[in-house]
Amino acid sequence: MIRQFGDYGGDIAEKADVCVIGSGAGGAVAAKELAQKGHSVVLLEEGGHHTRETWSGKPFSAMVEMFRNGGGTFTLGIPAVSITLGRCIGGTTTINSLTCFRTPSRVLGTWRDELGLARFTEEYLDPYFQRVENEIHVAELPWEVLGNCAKIIKRGADRLGLNCRPLKHNAVNCRGCGTCQFGCIDGAKQSMDVTYVPEAVKHGARVYAHCRADRLIVRSGRIEGVRASLIDPETGVRAHTMTVEARAVIVACGSLITPSFLKRSGLKNKNIGRNLRIHPGARVCAIMKEKVEGWKGVSQGAYIDDFENEGIILEGIFVHPSILLGAFPFIGLPFKELASQYAHVAAFAAMIHDTGEGRVYRSGPGGILSTYFINRRDIELLKKGVAYVAKIFFAAGAVRVLTAFRQMPVLDSPDDVQRLLDLKVRPGDNHEAMAFHPLGTCRMGVSPKSGAVDANGESFEVKNLFVADGSVVPTSLGVNPQITIMALANHIADRVSDRLGRPA
Ligand SMILES: Cc1cc2nc3c(=O)[nH]c(=O)nc-3n(C[C@H](O)[C@H](O)[C@H](O)COP(=O)(O)OP(=O)(O)OC[C@H]3O[C@@H](n4cnc5c(N)ncnc54)[C@H](O)[C@@H]3O)c2cc1C
Ligand code: SF4
Repeated sequence: MIRQFGDYGGDIAEKADVCVIGSGAGGAVAAKELAQKGHSVVLLEEGGHHTRETWSGKPFSAMVEMFRNGGGTFTLGIPAVSITLGRCIGGTTTINSLTCFRTPSRVLGTWRDELGLARFTEEYLDPYFQRVENEIHVAELPWEVLGNCAKIIKRGADRLGLNCRPLKHNAVNCRGCGTCQFGCIDGAKQSMDVTYVPEAVKHGARVYAHCRADRLIVRSGRIEGVRASLIDPETGVRAHTMTVEARAVIVACGSLITPSFLKRSGLKNKNIGRNLRIHPGARVCAIMKEKVEGWKGVSQGAYIDDFENEGIILEGIFVHPSILLGAFPFIGLPFKELASQYAHVAAFAAMIHDTGEGRVYRSGPGGILSTYFINRRDIELLKKGVAYVAKIFFAAGAVRVLTAFRQMPVLDSPDDVQRLLDLKVRPGDNHEAMAFHPLGTCRMGVSPKSGAVDANGESFEVKNLFVADGSVVPTSLGVNPQITIMALANHIADRVSDRLGRPA
């Protein structure tokens, strides 16, 4: 059973082998794996539990109910970067685009060769990738549900000799309705709320939604439990308290929150909060002669990795008109004209393997304070990626292309693509800065000097305290991160189980 605010009549005291905080890609996997091995598990989630029966899939109500800060989370810097986060059972997987990539081999090579994390070979991780992919049914979807944006990009890519392929997705019976980022009302998306969390419950885990962990209980360098608040979802105010006594705690609040939570609990390691990577991205829209109806089909259908060596990947990105129209750089009549052509709009995106860096600072419970600075190399790469997408759209027959760069928001011909490539840009020139993959803020390392946690996810400062979310990923990945986070969380859960020993 997943308990929610209506089930709470007063303060709660719990006792378990393991308390897991956060039910997203990291926390849900850790909770299920440990419960399945027979350990008693309590899983705490700050957000609510939304099911097919209780939510509409409508963008704005989903943003209010399932997104942190209604979708208004940003890193400070020039430019400020929008980073959407889920706050619900399933975490950000509930509102993500269901694209699945394993950690690229060259990235694992960097972890081993440059960071000394020798364990992370393909051979070691392969069984974890397989296990995770089986649990969430990773497969290629047919072109019919990938939508017209994917087909248009494929047409342009074919004409330019580029390789456009369907992405792999975690979905079963997806009908391509296109509202993936606002929760899948069909339950087709195999996010944590419909896979790992129910499985954890089946194996005896006790799950508490509307329950925000406030700080760790640490005594003599050893974890003893967690103090939490049971939050009234109507008011956002603490109604009751909860205490969990536990032999081990796994923190999985996500890369923008875990560092602040650890700092508030007294941890001091200097890597906590540093090394934030986000995969900055930019959307490119095209006005096509043909009818596109881009809202039909999974929102992220296909990809092109021909520019991977440069640090650029191109992927689908269509979203609901209520979001996309608001992002167009026009007002008045030009906006009206564009809005009336909405059925002819196609969208695709460029995302980069970033070297820029940010930081997460200590904030109050539920708050986020972070910075991120896109560097010169990364903004040049992003511009290149945008130009590549524009070139592909023109090859596919686009009439006009809209970019996220202030100096050239509209490209009218392939010649303009060359002008964009020649343009010198600065980070602040990107007027629609966005990212979806915060990583690295409690990175794994071989010592407290290089990491916040060791290669098993355990804190260097507090015994039996583990971290298992995007924050332990030690570098930028250059691809969507959920499979990496889930595989690492499974590895960490196994190490926690080793530490606890055979359950009674
Ligand atoms: C729009 C969008 C599309 C995306 N698409 C893809 C994609 O297609 N493929 C992909 O690989 N990745 C995608 N991602 C990213 C991916 O979903 C995340 O990287 C991943 O879910 C992060 O996992 P996590 O465990 O680190 O954190 P999360 O999944 O964010 O989970 C953290 C959970 O912890 C909870 N929490 C936080 N603080 C507390 C507290 N104090 N007490 C209790 N609970 C707390 C949060 O509410 C949240 O539910 C996308 C992200 C977004 C926003
Ligand atoms: S396209 Fe529709 S059915 Fe398919 S995963 Fe997305 S929301 Fe679910």
